[in-house]
Amino acid sequence: MLGGTFDPVHLGHLRSALELLEILALDRVHMIPAKMPPLRDTPRVAPEERLALLRLGIGDTPGLVADPRELERDGPSYSADTLASLRAEYGDQARLIMALGHDAFLRLAEWHAPWRLFELAHLVVIDRPDFEAALPRALAELIEGREVDSPGALMQRPAGRLLRLALPTRMAISATEIRRRLASDRSVRFLVPEAVEARILANSLYRHR
Ligand code: ATP
Repeated sequence: MLGGTFDPVHLGHLRSALELLEILALDRVHMIPAKMPPLRDTPRVAPEERLALLRLGIGDTPGLVADPRELERDGPSYSADTLASLRAEYGDQARLIMALGHDAFLRLAEWHAPWRLFELAHLVVIDRPDFEAALPRALAELIEGREVDSPGALMQRPAGRLLRLALPTRMAISATEIRRRLASDRSVRFLVPEAVEARILANSLYRHR
């Protein structure tokens, strides 16, 4: 699972998802837009539109799935609930992985029921250029004894371990920068897939701050 606001989806998300698929030998990556992200401002664009952009971005890429399950649930989008529904679908023995960027990982101890995440899945943290701060104490305690140093170590159990990964293509692309560019009429070409750019421009999304 790679959850996010996807406001909008960009090549940093998509390239990371694809590399995770290959490096971790996954069957698929569920990319799951949050309807209501609990820890951040309301997204600029409605959940259904963010999902539509995600679908366009993924296109026919094998192994990547635009998953609407958080849009179908009422209330805040807690990842623990999302992982529980994936666990129910795939069964107790399936290896489940929740991937997140280092910026999101730094706030993990503030999430709803963070220990539940490790009961339900392994966590894989993706290095991001520009996000390299030290770990807060509560986070260090949460992950104590869980860290492993290779994808192979995630194979032995269905959940509970933490792996930090520097993916081959680290991309300094953020949705914040894309929204800024669009708000000031600058190009987002080669930062988002062409079909995503076309829909954003056709629907005048993110034009005004
Ligand atoms: P914003 O700038 O609005 O905070 P974002 O670009 O970080 O957005 P999110 O939708 O918040 O995008 O990200 C979803 C997940 O993907 C998060 O775990 C985030 O850390 C990760 N992610 C986002 N951009 C990248 C990137 N360029 N490389 C690797 N991971 C990324």
